[in-house]
Amino acid sequence: MDDPVKYSRKPNEDMFELTVIGPGFGESCVLHVPGAGWGVIDCCKGTTDYLHSQGVENLSFAALTHPHLDHYEGFNALFDLYTGRIERIWLYDGYIEQRLIRLLDVAQKNAIFNARKLFNVLEMFAGEIKKGAKGRKIAAGTNLLSKKYQMDGGKSFEIAIDGLGPSLADINRFVGLLRSRPNDIDGDLSHACALFSLMSPEMNLVSATIRVRIGTMNIIFGGDTLIGQTNGEGWREIALGTDSTDIECDVIKVSHHGSKTSFCAEAWKRHKGEKAKVPFAIVTRFSKSKVPLPDESETKALKNCAHTLLTPSIGNPRKLSKVIGTNAEKALKRLGRKVHSVEKNKLGIVRIRIPLSTMIPNLELFGSASEVL
Ligand SMILES: [Zn+2]
Repeated sequence: MDDPVKYSRKPNEDMFELTVIGPGFGESCVLHVPGAGWGVIDCCKGTTDYLHSQGVENLSFAALTHPHLDHYEGFNALFDLYTGRIERIWLYDGYIEQRLIRLLDVAQKNAIFNARKLFNVLEMFAGEIKKGAKGRKIAAGTNLLSKKYQMDGGKSFEIAIDGLGPSLADINRFVGLLRSRPNDIDGDLSHACALFSLMSPEMNLVSATIRVRIGTMNIIFGGDTLIGQTNGEGWREIALGTDSTDIECDVIKVSHHGSKTSFCAEAWKRHKGEKAKVPFAIVTRFSKSKVPLPDESETKALKNCAHTLLTPSIGNPRKLSKVIGTNAEKALKRLGRKVHSVEKNKLGIVRIRIPLSTMIPNLELFGSASEVL
């Protein structure tokens, strides 16, 4: 890190923290919630190193927004280090769909690489629940955590973490797709693999959107939520649906790496709200596609909606070399797993800390993180 002292400085108990890690493929949000402790929403390379730098011993929650590799890849390392010490497990709705589990089981036995990885990660989530973690599904209208936090000075804050999506329509379409070709699971292996390939691009359908509310301040985590094909789905439902809720926000983790397919003008209008206070926006790049996300026009659109647009990484992850000597790497090596992680000093981190006493966000950028100009 450019400034290791600043990097490992811990937040005060009454500070909300949001740290976004995004090495170019993969994203992870680490949160420090006053009164609740530390939690993660999605996990990628670098998450456990950051938690270690902060001396985190227990997690209040671990959440997975949807079953895509760039969001769950880091959970192996996380569970290796924190197993049995995670209070809550939150998974997008659709997870307990038995057909998906069976499909993954069949596909992984046939050595479909991503199916095997996903199957393992979902098993690890289930294992944590067996060890005593409280399991919850994330969907529109689910309250995941609520607390009253009392500051030393006597001031108190209502803290709530809620699911804003996926909607019922999103979940139904996902489950409908799974059930549309029953023979693909009950028949031979190649059919199961074909169905897995068919389902893979559709997994953003069930992506969770999460809102953290502290007093009057909102912070939104967009996962990979897309606009939605019809009313009732995706951002359309969150922004315009009959059950639509407060999405005015101070900070937002932009959904789906800032892609066109996730940009919902109505939602952005509502993020700004009546106070016309534009949010800080953080976008994680997706560099594995031919044209990395977000492209030039997508970036322009986001910049028009944000107070400041920030990104943890500017580069292509393929150019970054392996990490040597990180805790995550050691833990994985013990288990005989291969690690491809980014070099520690190249890891980009956007960190926003908000002391409850002032409610003024303090922004810090590490490694390759920068403001998008
Ligand atoms: Zn993604």
